[in-house]
Amino acid sequence: MAFLMTVQGPIDAARAGFILPHEHLVVDFSGEDVPGTLRFHEDQASSVILPHLDEAKRRGVTTLFECTPAYLGRAPSFLRRLSKQSGMHVVTNTGYYGAAQDKFLPRVVWELSPEQIAFRWIQEWKQGIGDSNVFPGFIKIGVDPGRLSEVDERLVRAAALTCRATGLTIASHTTDRLSMEHQIALLIEEGVSSNRFVWVHAQSVRDTQFLVDVARRGVWLEFDGIQESTVEEHVSLVRDIRDAGLLDRVLLSHDAGWYSVGEPNGGTFRGFTTLIEKVLPALRQIGFHEEALQQLCRTNPARAFAIDAAPPLGVPA
Ligand SMILES: [Zn+2]
Repeated sequence: MAFLMTVQGPIDAARAGFILPHEHLVVDFSGEDVPGTLRFHEDQASSVILPHLDEAKRRGVTTLFECTPAYLGRAPSFLRRLSKQSGMHVVTNTGYYGAAQDKFLPRVVWELSPEQIAFRWIQEWKQGIGDSNVFPGFIKIGVDPGRLSEVDERLVRAAALTCRATGLTIASHTTDRLSMEHQIALLIEEGVSSNRFVWVHAQSVRDTQFLVDVARRGVWLEFDGIQESTVEEHVSLVRDIRDAGLLDRVLLSHDAGWYSVGEPNGGTFRGFTTLIEKVLPALRQIGFHEEALQQLCRTNPARAFAIDAAPPLGVPA
């Protein structure tokens, strides 16, 4: 059975329902990561976050991928608590974020080979994240634009090694052509199938032909960042890729949220419903049938992140 690994354990990928493949619930930009002793008050944060999860659930969302990596406030135990309280399936990740000029990378990464980095991520898959008994459901990395820096290249190779060892899909924050081309070359070199790779922020490159070329190679195009002001742009992106016959490569999400640690009351929280309230109706209006919308929001993300390997030992049933 292909499954998704949620913060509460594995679920049948075919039953994940309506999936948002890229959102955030908590982010901490201070660059510290102290598992178990997060620097916010959980009750206060959950009073901000839960109404947004409830609203998304009421609109039909059933599974949410939380894409905040380690050293940016990844909070596995807290995510499990939110998942239990809301009834939303939540998926967290392993991996390191090398975008933003590496400022969220732990210093130790500069001393580690790709194999040593991968070893740390594979340990999280095998034993859980810290002592949380929460397991990652995908690999989240980030790279800076341009030809990959030496450290970003190590992250991509480590992600490839982890993917091969665990079956977890790689989601990579990538905002330009050159770094995408470089990553595809590395995947090929490391023997990872391109359908285990999600191009996060694919909407950043406004070149339909390039997007189509990348999708034809099997990479998932994730058009995230949906908000009121981007509805038209997202609709035309989806239409262009559909017209090229590649709707089976598209993922849609908001990259929204989040409770921002350190800001009064967590700052401004952006909700998770614009896709359902605005983008899907706009797609219907230009002739997308229910089957195509189901593919975009259910079948595609389930396939992109489904894991075929056996779940690790120690995963709660
Ligand atoms: Zn994000």
